[in-house]
Amino acid sequence: MIDTQLRAVFVDDRSVDKQYMDRLARANESKIKWSFLTPEKNVEDFSDMLLAEKYDLIVLDYRLDEFPIHNSNHQIVNRYRAATLTQYLREKSIKNPETDLPIVVVSHEPNVHEYYDPDLTAHDLFDYVYLKKDINSSSNGIAQQLFSLIECYSKVRQFFESGQRSIDLVNILQLEPEEDAIIDFQEIQEIKKLFAPHQIVRCIYRIFVKQAGLLLSYEDMLARLGFSYQNSFDREKLEKILENKKIKYTGIFSSGWPRWWRHRFDAWMEETIGNDWGALTALDRTKKLNNALGLSFIPALSRITNDSNFLCAVRCISCDQPTALMHAVPSYESRRYLFLEKQRVCWACVSTGEYENRQIVLDVSANRTIERLKKSGF
Ligand SMILES: [Zn+2]
Repeated sequence: MIDTQLRAVFVDDRSVDKQYMDRLARANESKIKWSFLTPEKNVEDFSDMLLAEKYDLIVLDYRLDEFPIHNSNHQIVNRYRAATLTQYLREKSIKNPETDLPIVVVSHEPNVHEYYDPDLTAHDLFDYVYLKKDINSSSNGIAQQLFSLIECYSKVRQFFESGQRSIDLVNILQLEPEEDAIIDFQEIQEIKKLFAPHQIVRCIYRIFVKQAGLLLSYEDMLARLGFSYQNSFDREKLEKILENKKIKYTGIFSSGWPRWWRHRFDAWMEETIGNDWGALTALDRTKKLNNALGLSFIPALSRITNDSNFLCAVRCISCDQPTALMHAVPSYESRRYLFLEKQRVCWACVSTGEYENRQIVLDVSANRTIERLKKSGF
């Protein structure tokens, strides 16, 4: 979709952290040309300079003000952090949507998500936040996501450049025209009223990609299939089947965040093993699907009962494993749309406290479920 050489800039006040840019550059060398900058001007001049360069992607360290940089008058110039700089850039792109571009933040601080989380701060500034340690461990995956973000913006900007008054959601999500009822929700249609690419991209991420709802992640699908993800020899085979059945999502974000359409997946499950598939245990579901599709998945194991005779329904958002609704505790979500799946944490993660390390907060109604589970002897 994008043919010309793309350009990205990595801004960090610590020159030594250029190593993270180098890792990303090695991961997608052929696609993106990277440059490194320190925040060497005041915020207005620096944001003007970044926009004038017409980069395709900006990566900012969260704290740009840790190491003072002086101008020729010995004054400190970098008295701002990523949020302030991004605010300047976003305001300018609202006036000129054709210059809007992805801005992501990187940080050493494990709790950096809390500073930007739109659910907590009402800011929608950054497209994504990565921990620098994750760039060390999964530079290929992150580089692919950054490339995908560039594609998202390129696709969305085309609507502004072509002078269309609102974005064509069916096209951007690659739905079939006759499936438009799937996105017939007020909150989704409101996207058409947004007037800058970054607002549209952020909104599509939050509504479609971030959590299970109209789209499912691979782990969300495994919870429905009843498959364990410990033996994934047949993963490729399964993905091929789903691709042939056109269940795979091919709209924006899909090259960095693989997803599958829930309505097509559910219809295919009915067609393959019958419309009562939700009432089958993980063991029975797996047997039927393996027989019907020539696969050799092993059934998911409940972390609570330690067997496969359970009605797996959802993915635990803490450990990613399939869990039964009766063994799951609701997590707190400040903003929830009806078409999104309620997020849950399995009892194993709650009782061991595992979920606490993953920035998950339990819903106030969780107490009742916790009492019930304790009484049942779990
Ligand atoms: Zn869990």
